[in-house]
Amino acid sequence: MTSVADTLRATYNSGLTRPLAWRRNQLEQMIRMLEENEAEFLEALATDLGKPAVEGFITDIAFVTGEVKSMIRNLKKWNRPQRVSSPLVTFPSRSRLIPEPLGVVLVIAPWNYPVQLLLVPVAGAIAAGNAVVMKPSEVSTATSALLGRLVPKYMDTSAVAIVEGGVPETTDLLGQHFDHIFYTGNGTVGRIVMAAAVKHLTPVTLELGGKSPVIIDASANLRVAARRIAWGKWLNAGQTCIAPDYVMVDEKVSDRFIDELRDAITSFFGDDPQSSDSYGRIVSPRHFDRLSSLMSGGTVVIGGETDADSRYIAPTVLAQVNMDSQLMDEEIFGPLLPVIPIASPGEAIAYVNAHPHPLALYVFSEDKAVVRNVLAGTTAGGVTVNGTILHLTNPNLPFGGIGESGMGGYHGKSGVRLFQHLKPVLTRGTRMDPSIAYPPYTERKAKIFRKVL
Ligand code: NAD
Repeated sequence: MTSVADTLRATYNSGLTRPLAWRRNQLEQMIRMLEENEAEFLEALATDLGKPAVEGFITDIAFVTGEVKSMIRNLKKWNRPQRVSSPLVTFPSRSRLIPEPLGVVLVIAPWNYPVQLLLVPVAGAIAAGNAVVMKPSEVSTATSALLGRLVPKYMDTSAVAIVEGGVPETTDLLGQHFDHIFYTGNGTVGRIVMAAAVKHLTPVTLELGGKSPVIIDASANLRVAARRIAWGKWLNAGQTCIAPDYVMVDEKVSDRFIDELRDAITSFFGDDPQSSDSYGRIVSPRHFDRLSSLMSGGTVVIGGETDADSRYIAPTVLAQVNMDSQLMDEEIFGPLLPVIPIASPGEAIAYVNAHPHPLALYVFSEDKAVVRNVLAGTTAGGVTVNGTILHLTNPNLPFGGIGESGMGGYHGKSGVRLFQHLKPVLTRGTRMDPSIAYPPYTERKAKIFRKVL
């Protein structure tokens, strides 16, 4: 049986995906799919994750349409050959970088922002002129089914395919020949993806996760810090790859910070977050059980309530944290926030450096020297200073990890560039043909070379 990669390769080789008009049309169709079916998407996100409609709209609809609209606006510019200068020894010549698509791209997405994390890379691949196979997460079942129904209705299925399914289906895809694999998810599967890519020497982008720290020094505006951390942490009930994972706060202000967090939680979600329309749910019983057991790693000082039937876990803050517990070992990826008092920012820097490079790092301080030290003294995929999450929303800042948190960055221009090969082309003129470079290599020529090279 012909594999989906082979079918799409035949389309790609036919040249269908090359004209900018085809790419623009497909990107417009993607926007149409999201806009015409917005209510259904929001409903599916609510079924999978209890996602509040406003949150779903911002993170999984508007974020995607914003990125795609920018790709449409810049389609010509980002696919135009770039002139570069040529060295004297190549005279007479001109040099260009010609952006070319890579071929057939595979995009594998996770469940936490199941529309955004699938469609933004798919759009980048299309804008660059590739054919693309997309594999939504089987964990976000309703959203996967909806995409499975709508993508073939709106997109050109001869070049843009969707394959639904779990491990067997993904394993089958990974055995096929792709020209780039873009994977978002956990590091264990990231390693499986990278190992599979070896067979065809396929380049990979890995958007992984990890424990993203927050460092707060004594000079920080604690009220603002608490509100910004509370927003970034309890968005999507903590199931965000760059959610603050744990907080290291100067011990002199630690209690005050926890009081501010309590106020922030109450002002966002009321006294009973379970009845709030603005608070999500845990994606599956498996993750609910995992998170419930992580709570034993500290003392609950805020929240802690759970309800297995509705997969609800309250916004929860833990103090007196056991640094050797599972809570501090694995990425939490849920609504639990350990708060750890520290003697100085240096202690936090040392702790961060003793662990794998995080996907995101946050520092809150009014002291520029502290911010400088944290930035210079740590490595992370990306940073927001005096805030959380927002570096991801700037299309001019490539989003991605480093080391254990991933490789490669996307969003904005970098999200198209990722799926292009910039082919270097040097074109020589023929009206002159200086003989200096040709044999025989005389002493005179050697002298000239010594001067010009
Ligand atoms: P998931 O379980 O949905 O898995 C992701 C994808 O991998 C799915 O499409 C799934 O079908 C596939 N998969 C699962 N097991 C597989 C296997 N054995 N072989 C081949 N494919 C397999 O999502 P997840 O991994 O639980 O997602 C959560 C993780 O993703 C967290 O670590 C989070 O930090 C990270 N994440 C990173 C980003 C980012 O942009 N860097 C964004 C969101 C989530």
